[in-house]
Amino acid sequence: MNNQQSLKIGVLALQGAFAEHIHMLRRLGVEAVEVRKPAQLADVDGLIIPGGESTTMGLIAERWGLVEPLRAWVHGGRPTWGTCAGMILLAARATGQKQGGQPLLGGLDVTVNRNYFGRQVDSFEAELAAPVLGDLPFHAVFIRAPAITEMGPGVQRLAEIAQGNGEPVVVAVRQGPILATAFHPELTDDPRWHALFVAMVRESERNDR
Ligand code: GLN
Repeated sequence: MNNQQSLKIGVLALQGAFAEHIHMLRRLGVEAVEVRKPAQLADVDGLIIPGGESTTMGLIAERWGLVEPLRAWVHGGRPTWGTCAGMILLAARATGQKQGGQPLLGGLDVTVNRNYFGRQVDSFEAELAAPVLGDLPFHAVFIRAPAITEMGPGVQRLAEIAQGNGEPVVVAVRQGPILATAFHPELTDDPRWHALFVAMVRESERNDR
């Protein structure tokens, strides 16, 4: 990347809500492209792994030879944002997986519970505070959402949600160039999470120069 205009963000387009992320990035004036092949990773400055179904996405990534290139990308310190299933794939550890497990990319020092909020109440919406976005709360859409049950010391909590018992559980974190959200900002009208990720990508480009 030579200047701010040429910033290009890739969205992993194997399965799930990739089109909505692309739409939101374009709304912010950022060039956004679908990523399906390992070689396309060389051409982008940041990567979003969307929500969908993490087991399916992992299987398609394996079939298409993307698991190792994606691991190299994330572990190489490139800016990556995982939403929902994407957050599960970025986690170093996951619980509540299907039998036989699933390929995780790792890189984010957390344990996620895949279907933390349960299968019964599988979708809900809530107004949450996230100081990193400013004073206004954001509207969080949770769909069979995971949550973070353990996190390492280098991980910063960005948002949490109170559960029935009043105990908060972490639903958004950042660890260096990695952002992870358990909910779906691409399904709302609020571009602040995308703007935050774009700022992280720009920051990483500045540091590399
Ligand atoms: N819980 C789902 C999974 O395991 C993720 C759901 C989502 O991305 N909306 O992949």
